[in-house]
Amino acid sequence: MKRLATIKTTSYIEISKSALKNNLNFINSNLSKKTVFSSVVKGNAYGHGIETFVPLALELGVNHFSCFSAEEAFRVHSIIGENGTLLIMGSIFDDQIEWAILNKIEFFVFNYNTLNTAILISDKLKRNAFIHLEIETGMNRTGFDFNELENVFNLVQNHKYVTVKGICTHLAGAESISNYKRIKVQLKTFKSVKGLIKTKNEINPIYHSLCSAGFLSYPKHKADLVRIGILQYGFFPSNENYIQYITKNKINSNPLIRVISWKSRIMDIKNVKIGEFIGYGTSYFTNIDTKIAIVPIGYSNGFARKLSNSGKVLINGSRHDVVGVVNMNMLAVNISELENANIGDEVVLIGNQGNLEISVSSFSDFSNLLNYELLTRLPSNITRTIID
Ligand SMILES: *Cc1c(COP(=O)(O)O)cnc(C)c1O
Repeated sequence: MKRLATIKTTSYIEISKSALKNNLNFINSNLSKKTVFSSVVKGNAYGHGIETFVPLALELGVNHFSCFSAEEAFRVHSIIGENGTLLIMGSIFDDQIEWAILNKIEFFVFNYNTLNTAILISDKLKRNAFIHLEIETGMNRTGFDFNELENVFNLVQNHKYVTVKGICTHLAGAESISNYKRIKVQLKTFKSVKGLIKTKNEINPIYHSLCSAGFLSYPKHKADLVRIGILQYGFFPSNENYIQYITKNKINSNPLIRVISWKSRIMDIKNVKIGEFIGYGTSYFTNIDTKIAIVPIGYSNGFARKLSNSGKVLINGSRHDVVGVVNMNMLAVNISELENANIGDEVVLIGNQGNLEISVSSFSDFSNLLNYELLTRLPSNITRTIID
């Protein structure tokens, strides 16, 4: 049984070191020395796998990570230890705050509940709580309102173990120009907070508001830190961001490289006679004798059922159609045109084979999923390995 851990799952993910290196260079070349790059690794590092991605990012020089929850922070912390700063941007419950304080994990605070607990526990432990006050600037999700800040600062100033490490906000849709006005208002509100804080001697925080889209579209607002997720994995937040970037910078190719590939193998091959249905139900009917490959991957493995009769995969250097409905653990591919296909042959779901590529966006177009959603839906138990 001990060997089981080394056996590949039915599909597997490859993480490209050289691609990540390229993307980190891209980000760093657009940053001045005074701005810290925080690598956003929520959603299991956007499906890349925290346990695979974080050590690699560390090796490539990243030393600041942001995640969503205390549970994710626990996983990241057990990898980076004291070798970097870790910030929780979202969910931290009262019973998780002691752990965060003891391990110097920084966290967003956006309500009095968490603030009061942080005060109570840091006082009790006589250890610093490093907090980032999140400001409501127009996203209307989480954050203190501007008119609460005076009170919040007074509270913090009376408790020496609570250190306001940062002041931050999040933009509501910087990936589309249609939100331009709303974003501008947010940035202006955020600036006025800065004005207010300048009057408080005891507080000397860093400021941050930008995610990938903000980083691309509102570069003047990089401030002290940027929280970047999707770009480091090799994707623009939106097509609009991509077109805008390459036009503005007069380049004609994508400066980013996809880090992830997702592959499986043929588990069986069968010849189906003309005039038969393939798989469950009647959604695919053979008009000619048809050779199919069965691939051990289905909707329980992250391959959307929506891709029934519409998905594409690469086998032996050519593109082939998914036929019939995607099952829980299997799908069928029409390989009638392939002379030589064998059980065990590689099947590419996302990635390159020969000269062809199945990109995440082509894949997600078929299933109406956002890049972000498709990636983060990749099950966490799939074997992930680092290549080149
Ligand atoms: C997810 C997230 C980011 C990163 O977003 P990307 O678009 O992937 O760069 C930054 N800040 C916050 C608060 C987030 O939730």
